[in-house]
Amino acid sequence: MRRRRLALAGPLMALLGGCAAPAARPRVPDIVAVAAWGGTSPPLPAQAQPITRLTLHHQGETWKPGADVQDYLRRLQRWSRQARGWVDIPYHYIVAQDGRAYAARPWQIAGDTNTEYDPRGHLLVMLVGNFEVQEPTPAQWQGTVELVAHLLVQHGLHVEDLATHRDLSAQTLCPGAHLYRRFDELKRAVGVRLAV
Ligand SMILES: [Zn+2]
Repeated sequence: MRRRRLALAGPLMALLGGCAAPAARPRVPDIVAVAAWGGTSPPLPAQAQPITRLTLHHQGETWKPGADVQDYLRRLQRWSRQARGWVDIPYHYIVAQDGRAYAARPWQIAGDTNTEYDPRGHLLVMLVGNFEVQEPTPAQWQGTVELVAHLLVQHGLHVEDLATHRDLSAQTLCPGAHLYRRFDELKRAVGVRLAV
């Protein structure tokens, strides 16, 4: 009996996104607005891009626990505009290690990329850190599940519309091995949240 119960624990844990507590009702995450982190937004286009999918990224640089996220976002926005000539940060939302989500580029404007895939129609969500060498923190994982579930509902998308950057471009390891290997687990956790 004991062995049997243990055998069931794995899939159940995976279904619940690694958390044994009963699934909570889906809630709208508090997304920190651009003005609140000291950024500025470009003018919105006359027509918003139609959203057809959501693509996950990692920062690709090792995140020092306790580093100032808002300062990082301000620097990333300056770099995106001045060094790259983009209208804004290439991603629409960023998830910090504490699980908090930050708005970046307005979703109405297509994202940018250093690789060859076409990001038009994609919501781009980036998690801070380098998941080739780091793991997402439990709070960051949970924050990502909540944000992604919320965005799917907001834009009428489904779990099948999720992908990682690496699924779309052979030129990148993004979102890093430690997130990539858990991507199916993430999709299941988002599905559970949507089903509540
Ligand atoms: Zn990426």
